[in-house]
Amino acid sequence: MSTARYIRIHENDNVVTVANDGGLPAGTLLDNGITLKEAVPQGHKIALVDLSPGEEVRRYNVVIGHANTFIAQGAWVNEHRLDMPAAPELHALPVATNLTHLEPLQGYTFEGFRNPDGSVGTRNLLAISTSVQCVSGVVAHAVKRIREELLPKYPNVDDVISLEHVYGCGVAIQAPDAVIPIRTLRNIARNPNFGGRTLLVSLGCEKLQADVFFPDRFIPIKNGGFQRQDDHIALVTLQDDTNIGFDGMIRAIMEAAEEQLLVLNRRVRTTCPLSDLIVGVQCGGSDAFSGVTANPVVGFASDLLVRAGARVMFSEVTEVRDGIAQLTARAADAEVARQLIEQMDWYDRYLGRGSADRSANTSPGNKRGGLSNIVEKAMGSIVKSGSSPIRGVVPPGERCTTTGLNFAATPASDFVCGTLQLAAGMTLHVFTTGRGTPYGLKEVPVVKVATRSDLARRWHDLMDLNAGRVVDGEASIEELGWELFHYMIDVASGRKQTCAEKLKLHNSLALFNPAPIT
Ligand code: CA
Repeated sequence: MSTARYIRIHENDNVVTVANDGGLPAGTLLDNGITLKEAVPQGHKIALVDLSPGEEVRRYNVVIGHANTFIAQGAWVNEHRLDMPAAPELHALPVATNLTHLEPLQGYTFEGFRNPDGSVGTRNLLAISTSVQCVSGVVAHAVKRIREELLPKYPNVDDVISLEHVYGCGVAIQAPDAVIPIRTLRNIARNPNFGGRTLLVSLGCEKLQADVFFPDRFIPIKNGGFQRQDDHIALVTLQDDTNIGFDGMIRAIMEAAEEQLLVLNRRVRTTCPLSDLIVGVQCGGSDAFSGVTANPVVGFASDLLVRAGARVMFSEVTEVRDGIAQLTARAADAEVARQLIEQMDWYDRYLGRGSADRSANTSPGNKRGGLSNIVEKAMGSIVKSGSSPIRGVVPPGERCTTTGLNFAATPASDFVCGTLQLAAGMTLHVFTTGRGTPYGLKEVPVVKVATRSDLARRWHDLMDLNAGRVVDGEASIEELGWELFHYMIDVASGRKQTCAEKLKLHNSLALFNPAPIT
């Protein structure tokens, strides 16, 4: 069989991770003189020393747990043999003590669609917002008709999409936390890829009325209905007396769509500095390689983007909660640190209301991939953020307005995180995966990075970049980071399509609604 390969991340670690595809059998002799006591799967940990119950297990030079049984040198260290440490406290944290200065990177541009408000899109899309799920079936029909009958007349428009969701009615719309789903929907409609044009389809009787959706753009009028404030926004209300039958509704939506398509068709790509690019990074279906290959590659590319002036967001509160001290140390100033702690504290209480804690994160697939618990997962997850100072914190559903690295506070759920990053203004999404996911969004291109060569080979047409080459010794993190950086610029410029775009793999929006449903 091939040589036994393993990864030791830090010299103080007392475990190593198996790198070989298919794992290693019992009796394998490692080049450090240790013989495996039992078979250990790929991505899983081997004890380098005898570990007594209660002893610390270290990976990333961090205590990821304590042995809850005797673990012999050469034995398998898995989630059943580890107890998780308590969550770190949210006080007495280091503030702005680890600020890395990165040299600015000059000379990189991309070809984007500049909008009237100064923002820049990577795609030219007509997006149809919806104020309630009731209209989704009608809107889906209208989108099909628009795509077939109208879009060929407007060749500069890439596509027409519907922004459907399950919010809008049957919800406690006055509850304090309802502000999150409502501002999320409003800000998604403002995503730079939609050219500053909005078409809203409403039913008419729902709680999320047009003037609640867009308070500054619609005012209620006497006989019911709403007056729009400018022609950048259009409203079709299915219950309007003027709509006769299904055909009438479709015709009304198509007419309103054409009004917007006429304008969107005039958008052209122009050369823009990278400071106009807004990138969201996240991971899903993580394994023990995420923190060794794909996430460090994304972290390196993230630093390149930040050095070039771009806005980069990392997210997923439960996946960084255990590394809060690293984050506050990288906060640009005390105010950013305070906002980070505020978001963590809010999320602790949100989870507590549901009798859960951060350990609810880590899926069966994460564990099969070698991640014993959320502490180990978090240490690998944070690496995606690179080494830049954190300059901004974006609450859920808010827009990202700060140049440089931002923490956008979102759940780790892939779809909810992606939806909130869309609201924040993301125009390009980078997604790392170890177990594999076909995840994609219709609103922005999604670049997927595989943590392992085995996954990249099997899913050859679903993965954009194979970071497993780091473990195979074929490329360094720096080389792959640059490769990803250039690929992102090509995708943002429309010169390349991502795998998910080519296959038209689109996940639904999934709103974060911490408020009650009625
Ligand atoms: Ca995720």
